[in-house]
Amino acid sequence: MGTTLLLGAGFGGLAAANELKQLVGTQRIVVVDGGEGFRIGATNTWLMLGATGPEVATHSWAGLAAKGIEFVHARIESIDPDIRSVETDAGKLQGDQLVIALGADLNLRAMPGLAEAAHHFYSGGGAADLRDALAAFEGGRVVIVIPRTPYKCPAAPYEAALLLTEFLSKPGRKRPSTVSIHTVEGQPMPTGGTEVGKAVRDLLEGAEIGFFPQMKLERADATTRTLHFEGGEKVGYDLLIAVPPHEPHACVRHAGLLGPSGWVAVDSRTLETPGFENVFAVGDVNGVSLPGRYKPDVPLSMPKAGVMAEAEGRVVAGIIASRLGHGEAATFDGRGSCYLETGGGRALRAEGSFYEMPAPVMRPGVASEAELADKRRWVHETFARLL
Ligand SMILES: Cc1cc2nc3c(=O)[nH]c(=O)nc-3n(C[C@H](O)[C@H](O)[C@H](O)COP(=O)(O)OP(=O)(O)OC[C@H]3O[C@@H](n4cnc5c(N)ncnc54)[C@H](O)[C@@H]3O)c2cc1C
Repeated sequence: MGTTLLLGAGFGGLAAANELKQLVGTQRIVVVDGGEGFRIGATNTWLMLGATGPEVATHSWAGLAAKGIEFVHARIESIDPDIRSVETDAGKLQGDQLVIALGADLNLRAMPGLAEAAHHFYSGGGAADLRDALAAFEGGRVVIVIPRTPYKCPAAPYEAALLLTEFLSKPGRKRPSTVSIHTVEGQPMPTGGTEVGKAVRDLLEGAEIGFFPQMKLERADATTRTLHFEGGEKVGYDLLIAVPPHEPHACVRHAGLLGPSGWVAVDSRTLETPGFENVFAVGDVNGVSLPGRYKPDVPLSMPKAGVMAEAEGRVVAGIIASRLGHGEAATFDGRGSCYLETGGGRALRAEGSFYEMPAPVMRPGVASEAELADKRRWVHETFARLL
């Protein structure tokens, strides 16, 4: 019997663990995570707007033991891909296969002044703080700034703008509010292509949300409540919400696995790291380059999303199982979908096929109440499926 060591118990790590246990019941599977439990980021906008209940809560990993999956609650300090081992604050762990699924670190300090100036909804804690700030907000200019790509769920800031516009238009505040988005991107959800970009821009326009693309943030000033952009442009705000700059966690940055994208380099079909046999990286932590769309020589990157992390985790489990003599392995097909809530109790779903040539294909669906119900169902089923 061998040991598969899975780093991170989020979408990717949990999917790989569950799938591998199904495929090879005798394999010892050890999952390591230093966090507080499993949350679904797709519910952060609900939490930001005051929702309570199990769907926005952090869920315990305690149920994994009953499935025969070992869970180690420990902080990973370093990773040695040569010998597939990690140092943690609870000691050293080693595996015959190593799956890195540690997600992305959020670093507001990567941009001068942003940590002091901005709220965010990219973690449970951030969304809860923003909920409190919104409760005290008297109205005024709400600015959402996207200073850097890539970031998790390319739809999320646009969804937040639409939901906040609706939320702030309800009576009871001293002043009316405006919402605007200032982004370094050329269009919303650029990997999705012009059709998706136009659909989102139309939604923003319909809700009178200002959209300002290609704006490179240089610094934020909390004292004067001003954002300073490259070229000298200044934007004032009353409430600032930022998409925090994302980067790999320190233990990943120092493991010698990063590619030119700044994320862990992997084979796009097998998710294996080049040069390290049986070391895989799935989900937000990896950087999968996609063919260029706007400029053929400038690659796009695979969107960071839970559905992608989960699909990648299952593919890696299949590859490990097949190397252990259990069945044929499929490779990752680069397909996935994401929801974008539009307000009015509706959501739309965009379906993507990111390995299409000559460029990724993504199609936006139509916003409906049924799609929002579908998202809610997906959230509940995800907890049941992975924990
Ligand atoms: C606002 C928002 C909306 C979103 N909406 C959607 C959506 O609609 N659909 C969708 O598919 N995705 C959505 N996402 C994205 C999705 O949440 C992420 O892409 C997904 O969680 C990535 O899965 P992962 O397994 O790669 O990483 P994660 O789920 O982040 O898991 C990583 C795990 O590693 C652990 N870890 C990290 N560092 C260490 C360390 N040093 N030691 C020990 N443990 C460590 C963490 O505690 C964590 O549990 C959204 C995200 C946000 C923020």
